[in-house]
Amino acid sequence: MSQLFQSPFDRNSTASDVTKGVDLSGKRAIVTGATSGIGVETARALLAAGAQVTLAVRRPEAGEQVAADLRARTGNDAVRVGRLDVADLDSVNAFAASWSGALHILVNNAGIMMPPELERGIRGHEQQFATNYLGHFALTLGLHSALAEAQGARVVSVSSGGHLFSPVVFDDLDFRFRPYDALTAYGQSKTAEALLAVEADRRWAGEGIRANTLNPGAIATGLQKHTGGLRTPERYRKTIEQGAATSVFLAASPLVDGIGGRYFEDVNEAPQVDARPTELGVTAVAAYAVDPANAERLWNVARDILR
Ligand code: NDP
Repeated sequence: MSQLFQSPFDRNSTASDVTKGVDLSGKRAIVTGATSGIGVETARALLAAGAQVTLAVRRPEAGEQVAADLRARTGNDAVRVGRLDVADLDSVNAFAASWSGALHILVNNAGIMMPPELERGIRGHEQQFATNYLGHFALTLGLHSALAEAQGARVVSVSSGGHLFSPVVFDDLDFRFRPYDALTAYGQSKTAEALLAVEADRRWAGEGIRANTLNPGAIATGLQKHTGGLRTPERYRKTIEQGAATSVFLAASPLVDGIGGRYFEDVNEAPQVDARPTELGVTAVAAYAVDPANAERLWNVARDILR
């Protein structure tokens, strides 16, 4: 295995810290799920560094409010809103088809966590797998030529430490044989998101497209609406500014030029583990979430689903 990538940053670093001195003028970025939480701060930091940013959101009115706020906060007017519901294939395809020109940065950030009942989404697939993974897979594929045109694009897949709760269970992606468990399903979807970056990087690095994945950490946001709020003890939590740091670092920092297919946490590459750590605050990625064979297999499964 290659050496773990280390940055000068740590778990306390913020999105502003990792973009100090970074100039993104002329770069075009998309951030999905930028109406709330980490996505808003990710978009803010990219704008503050001079990028043109599209907030890809399912509620355009809410997106316009965020855009107005970000213009005021950053002094960068180059923010626009695009309608995108990642849980709806027609919406994903329409969004991708409407994009023209190069795309330098794609942050697949939108997400849902642990709806209590089994729901089904794209092509009948379990809703978290469909929303967190399949929608972003279709989006990334739909934007492939725009990413290639950028000649040096970055794809960032926002995974989660929750991936440690489940590999992708290829024989039962949709809980048709096993009982639905909301955390297991979230874990599976976040492993899938990590694998999306691993395989996109393998396939597309030759076209200058590098993809990485990350765990933002534990941050109190709208994400925990089905779980009664964030339960993580205070000292293991991050602020939203800290939570967005790893996404923004992977999207924007020249320090990761030429780096791809890796899983980051606390702005550094996480070590692989063969079992879920029992203590809180341990930085780790399950070997199954960065396994190239899993990544290729899932890509092919997802392509077949979307055919
Ligand atoms: P939020 O709930 O605050 O933000 C999630 C965003 O995703 C919202 O903008 C939401 O839109 C959007 N979204 C949800 N479903 C869809 C959809 N179908 N189409 C388009 N957009 C959608 O959560 P966070 O900011 O915390 O989460 C951002 C990412 O970080 C997620 O992928 C999450 O899994 C990941 N993460 C977060 C952690 C945390 O502790 N907060 C920990 C680990 C990972 P709307 O406003 O319309 O609901």
